Amino acid sequence: MTKFTRGIIASSFFLLAVLFSTIAHSQPLEMDKPDEIPLGGLIRSDTFNSPLGPVFLRWTREVEGKFGRDPLRATIEASRAASRVLRLSSVPSELNNLYINWNIVFMDSVSSSAKLPKGLIDQCHPGWMLPPAHIYIVGERVSEGCGGQQKIQKVADKRLSQVVVHELAHAIEYQMLGAEQWRDRSRAEGFATWFELLASRHSSLLDESMIKASAFKRARESIHRYPGNNFVFDGSSEAYARMAIYFSWLESRYGLAEVFRVYDDIRNEPEPFLSVLVRKYATDISRLDKEVLKYIDSQGM
Ligand SMILES: [Zn+2]
Repeated sequence: MTKFTRGIIASSFFLLAVLFSTIAHSQPLEMDKPDEIPLGGLIRSDTFNSPLGPVFLRWTREVEGKFGRDPLRATIEASRAASRVLRLSSVPSELNNLYINWNIVFMDSVSSSAKLPKGLIDQCHPGWMLPPAHIYIVGERVSEGCGGQQKIQKVADKRLSQVVVHELAHAIEYQMLGAEQWRDRSRAEGFATWFELLASRHSSLLDESMIKASAFKRARESIHRYPGNNFVFDGSSEAYARMAIYFSWLESRYGLAEVFRVYDDIRNEPEPFLSVLVRKYATDISRLDKEVLKYIDSQGM
């Protein structure tokens, strides 16, 4: 039995990840790139050289109105923070030198005339990434959340950079895994959410203490509610946070370089992230969760 087969049996969430992945990849290939998305009203655009490569950016005046900071400045700050993480010595050299073309659009809301996968439109995510580095951000979902509850401008402003960092992280992970990336959605979202935490240590714009407290709190809630094998990655914010904290735990316990060694393992022999953690560092998922809860406690969260 291969490690991958064992992983499927061990991790019930994996089937769900495959389902999501199948939905995402069974969409027609005809899709608007960020620079082709129809935008209403006054359109702005800019090109700048970020430390991660040239960025072409489009946004509308309406999006600007929702934030104290315009999307250009939020993207500049997010790319700087992400590149500071990638320059760390524990990060593999292919990521240290990442330099690719980025194509980003900030929509006010999702246009019904845009050619985009329905699954992405129907979800309430504030942004998404399509390989290799096409990023779509929905302003109203960032500023108001999915329930339409209004947040104060300052929070929405910081949140905008956080959302951009999250999407940059998906593109960064794609560089490591290629098409393998979306076979395990729980890992992909965990990586991107953990990357927000990493980047917040390297940017004054991102609110490190707020991002950390929120992620730890939601991860703890998820572990208590769905301990061990009861956990199924359902795309909720608690599930995102829980997966992110598995990454944080791994980083804290074994060092940042170990996270990328796990990626080498997955690249060499595809296996769900959680089953790699259980196989390498714990005897079963319940023991892993216990360790992670101890880690959360040790952070004073
Ligand atoms: Zn994501």
